[in-house]
Amino acid sequence: MNRFLSMAVIAAIFTCSQPALAAKESVSPDGVKVEKMSRLRTLVPESELNAAAGQQYAELLQQAKQKGVLVPDSHPQVQRLRAIGERIIPQAKRWNESAPGWQWEINLINTEDINAFCMPGGKIAFFSGILTKLKLTDDEAAIIMGHEAAHALREHSRERLAKSGITNVGASVLGFGLSALFGIDPNVTNTVAEAGASLAILKFSRSDETEADLVGLDIAARAGYDPRAGITLWRKMGMVSKNGPPQWLSTHPAGTARIAQMEKHMAQVLPLYAKVKGVPVKSLPPYESNVKGIEPVK
Ligand SMILES: [Zn+2]
Repeated sequence: MNRFLSMAVIAAIFTCSQPALAAKESVSPDGVKVEKMSRLRTLVPESELNAAAGQQYAELLQQAKQKGVLVPDSHPQVQRLRAIGERIIPQAKRWNESAPGWQWEINLINTEDINAFCMPGGKIAFFSGILTKLKLTDDEAAIIMGHEAAHALREHSRERLAKSGITNVGASVLGFGLSALFGIDPNVTNTVAEAGASLAILKFSRSDETEADLVGLDIAARAGYDPRAGITLWRKMGMVSKNGPPQWLSTHPAGTARIAQMEKHMAQVLPLYAKVKGVPVKSLPPYESNVKGIEPVK
């Protein structure tokens, strides 16, 4: 727990008290539509939150390195993720004007966990299990990266932290480890738990998750990744979760409802992808999964 941040947050909460009502906001004429970000989040100083996230991310990498589970820069899977990031990150500005100034990082931690995260300020990590157990295609990995980046870009942690503070100032701010506030399940890995031990797991809200799904699809589509991979991704999640729920599902409400949401918004994001590909939507062939038993998505 970062005491400096806690004190700063409490100070901020005590000195401000102007929650604003969210209003409809359209970031751009095409793509998905989102609500305006809660002004409440500004009670938490962005620079301090990002600095604390950066510090915790560095600690996590250090711990992973000591345990021999930090996958080296030269590894093909790290290079693959970073290549995906090179296409995803330029789309971030549309969703958060501070994003181009963030010190984005992408790392891979070699554990079996089916999980990934993006801390405030663009600190991304994937766990090997999500790549191997779900046999992720580049499109699917891009959807996950887009989803996690969307949590950071839409400042869900910052909002959650502000809201926790407002409703129950001292206890809630002091009681949570930062990793919990960043939406990382501290039970996910020992690496995470040791780097950011936490007393409680604070999940993103369902509406945060829906927003991250949709913004993630928009980001991936504009980066030239097929948004229909979001559907095959969640079908794969459903398949592996039959043998016990993977960790990503424990922090991400599951399944059919999310697929339905994605299908509902496909008409907003598929044209973005088709535009990058330079073809009309109707000329796009169905998206073929690389896993048996998952139907192609039209
Ligand atoms: Zn999420």
